[in-house]
Amino acid sequence: MQHIIDRFISYVTVDTESDPNSDTTPSTAKQWDLANQLVEELKAIGMEDVTIDDNAYIMATLPSNVDHEVPVIGFVSHFDTTPDFTGANVKPQIVHNYDGGDIVLNKELDIVLSPGYFKDMLQYKGQTLITTDGTTLLGADDKAGITEIVTAMEYLIQHPEIKHGKIRVGFTPDEEIGRGAHKFDVAKFGAEWAYTMDGSQIGELEYENFNAAGAKITFKGKSVHPGYAKGKMINSMLIANDFISALPKGEVPEKTTGYEGFFHVVGLNGSIEETTVQLIIRDHDRAKFEDRKQLVQKITDNINNSFKEQFGGDIATAEIKDSYFNMKEKVEPVMHIVDIAEKAMKELGIEPIIKPIRGGTDGSQLSYMGLPCPNIFAGGHNFHGKYEYVPVESMQKAVEVIVKIAELTAQK
Ligand SMILES: [Zn+2]
Repeated sequence: MQHIIDRFISYVTVDTESDPNSDTTPSTAKQWDLANQLVEELKAIGMEDVTIDDNAYIMATLPSNVDHEVPVIGFVSHFDTTPDFTGANVKPQIVHNYDGGDIVLNKELDIVLSPGYFKDMLQYKGQTLITTDGTTLLGADDKAGITEIVTAMEYLIQHPEIKHGKIRVGFTPDEEIGRGAHKFDVAKFGAEWAYTMDGSQIGELEYENFNAAGAKITFKGKSVHPGYAKGKMINSMLIANDFISALPKGEVPEKTTGYEGFFHVVGLNGSIEETTVQLIIRDHDRAKFEDRKQLVQKITDNINNSFKEQFGGDIATAEIKDSYFNMKEKVEPVMHIVDIAEKAMKELGIEPIIKPIRGGTDGSQLSYMGLPCPNIFAGGHNFHGKYEYVPVESMQKAVEVIVKIAELTAQK
């Protein structure tokens, strides 16, 4: 246990916050610090073919130790942390034998991690939790995933009696800003399928995520002195308001769950002359997703029609762009890759929690790039903030799941 704690701490104490406003890869130079450290460590534990490319994508190989043909599988995680909350100067605290009560993260600042608010904590009574000191995030997302993959590889190297095929490991930068898969060389990785170790609580196994698009609708107006405006002024802000009002009322993130899709207004910027509305569109179902995009276009067209004469042309334009798609389309035809992970968990006494992701993962992009890639729990909770924590026992279980998947794949 100490080994896994030490390894995890050696990662989270390196600041790797990514930056959406940067055009480089990795988006921040500091991500190289951990990337270089990981390359050395992968070599040190005995991994082969350890490479890091110009964009800091790391790959490594654990060679097969069986004679027969076994599909090459991969495990993937990301080493950046979200820009939503600071990841600098992380000072992890270790709570042994958690008693089920409040955990004071920071006495001075009166920051408490309480099971009264975060009920999930109670299932880890008696376990060892790693928390923050209340001033930073922890970075279990996804340094827990990296810890688990490295530890599992080390374990397999030290236990050659466990039979497995060739295993590829991939660590990426910039997942938190949606670019983790962008420069991932799927051909070079050369795996038939892979798993991202990037889920939350123990048992999570995910192979469905949203179809996602972003839309920007621009409304034009005509500014005239308000005292002389009758029949002349067109206030683009009010037209934008009509647009938003025409969207289905209950279909917003705060009123939907499970497989329910939504429209989510994320930006509104207006003057009389010009207003832009930015929204994101999400739905697990591809047909419903297409309907949602069409509805945005239809509302825009209706507004255009009603102002055609007065404005003398199109008063509104909608730009709709797809962001990512549901990996289910790519995973379902190779469903055995989910079945193996499910079987691995069950054999280890872990109850699989299979549910649709209300978001996207690197795995969804990778799946469309030719590498089907479900997501497995990494063990952490309350990602992207100061209340983030991870039970060490969950990390240990994730290590066992990786080892078991390798074993089961070789038996198939
Ligand atoms: Zn993550």
